Amino acid sequence: MAAMMQTLGANPFADRAPTATTAVMVTDQATGPSSDQPRARRTACIIGAGLTGLTAAAELQAGGWKVVVLDKGRAPGGRAATRYLSDRSQRCDVGAQFWTARDPAFAAATAAWVQAGWAEAWGQGFPLLNANGLHVGGDAFARWRAVGGMVTLARHLAQELDLRAPRTVTALQPVGSAWEVIHVGGDAVRGEATAPAEILRADAVIMTMPVPQILTLLAPLAFPIPPEIGAVQYDRCLYLLAEKNQGEAILPNPGGIRIEDGALGCTWIASARQRGLRDRGEGIILHADAQLSTNLWDDEPAQQMAILRDRLAAVLARLDVSWTPDNAEVRRWRYGRCSQTVPELLWSPGSGLFGAGDAFGAAPRVEGAWLSGRAVAGAILRGH
Ligand SMILES: Cc1cc2nc3c(=O)[nH]c(=O)nc-3n(C[C@H](O)[C@H](O)[C@H](O)COP(=O)(O)OP(=O)(O)OC[C@H]3O[C@@H](n4cnc5c(N)ncnc54)[C@H](O)[C@@H]3O)c2cc1C
Repeated sequence: MAAMMQTLGANPFADRAPTATTAVMVTDQATGPSSDQPRARRTACIIGAGLTGLTAAAELQAGGWKVVVLDKGRAPGGRAATRYLSDRSQRCDVGAQFWTARDPAFAAATAAWVQAGWAEAWGQGFPLLNANGLHVGGDAFARWRAVGGMVTLARHLAQELDLRAPRTVTALQPVGSAWEVIHVGGDAVRGEATAPAEILRADAVIMTMPVPQILTLLAPLAFPIPPEIGAVQYDRCLYLLAEKNQGEAILPNPGGIRIEDGALGCTWIASARQRGLRDRGEGIILHADAQLSTNLWDDEPAQQMAILRDRLAAVLARLDVSWTPDNAEVRRWRYGRCSQTVPELLWSPGSGLFGAGDAFGAAPRVEGAWLSGRAVAGAILRGH
């Protein structure tokens, strides 16, 4: 099927060849051409509507750029996701559960979200369950959660943006000083392409997906990859989503517990109701740790279910809670929490091609994704 061409406005630098010869990693402080130079309105395509992509898009749009965001998922948010069990009886946040805001700029953004009614406090630290029992206690940092689930926050952040989803970017090609972004309808990574290819042309492309997916897209291009990128790692995460058609909260307040006990093989359990998602019943999310997730990854779904239900029963027994779900599902994050980051953004001088995300920076979490999105947009607005 012939690809359709969409152009994001005129390219004012059409006679400048891309210079993808030396890839470097830059910090937010990198300097570029003076920002008081007059600059034509320019165009960007952002791949990924997670918190990195949504933040970068909003910053660039505020800076006068025309921006399109493409995501292979139906809903924005990426790993900040809220899912229903398949009978749609109960929602749960299944990736990021809450966030901290240590950076002043991110604290200000969080305060603005609270003011808008998009976010609310969720205590100052969660109880810890380890081999010695349950330890209640907090720390100095407020935890925040999204009102209505993480996907609702992502939808708020996307509401002023041109977000096209589900669209999977399958290839990039340089054309003069710009890029053509080839994308198909649906989630082509899962083999679920639903619509023909289209081409979108933009002056800058920001790739915000997990690094292995960035590298897949870069593989056919002569784009030099800094060797440090090879060190980035993500933990796999299997999780159990369990539900009972009866809305009783079952966990001690505030409804989330960190787990550090190799015998349990889990990192986190939380109650959807206590977290503020009040649907028909009670929903419980249980995250398996990296080792258990890796061990079970290729097992049959029935085997994964049996083991994770067993772990849920063991965790609840340790909490003296009697609760048997009516319904449960096992799902997974292939690229879950980033366990090894690199300090800076990925880009190649003058190429208009950028990599950003929670793997780029010191904080591989919601805050780090937001900061990375802001940093890459800042670098572009400064003329990189
Ligand atoms: C189980 C789990 C628990 C977590 N808990 C917490 C927590 O409690 N607190 C916290 O702060 N952080 C937590 N995190 C980390 C946090 O979720 C991430 O750091 C953050 O959401 C990453 O955002 P991102 O935008 O960088 O990447 P992502 O959210 O991964 O966004 C990348 C996007 O790119 C899209 N994409 C990928 N390939 C393509 C393609 N080819 N074409 C189009 N789109 C594409 C994806 O669909 C996705 O939407 C957790 C993560 C996991 C997995």
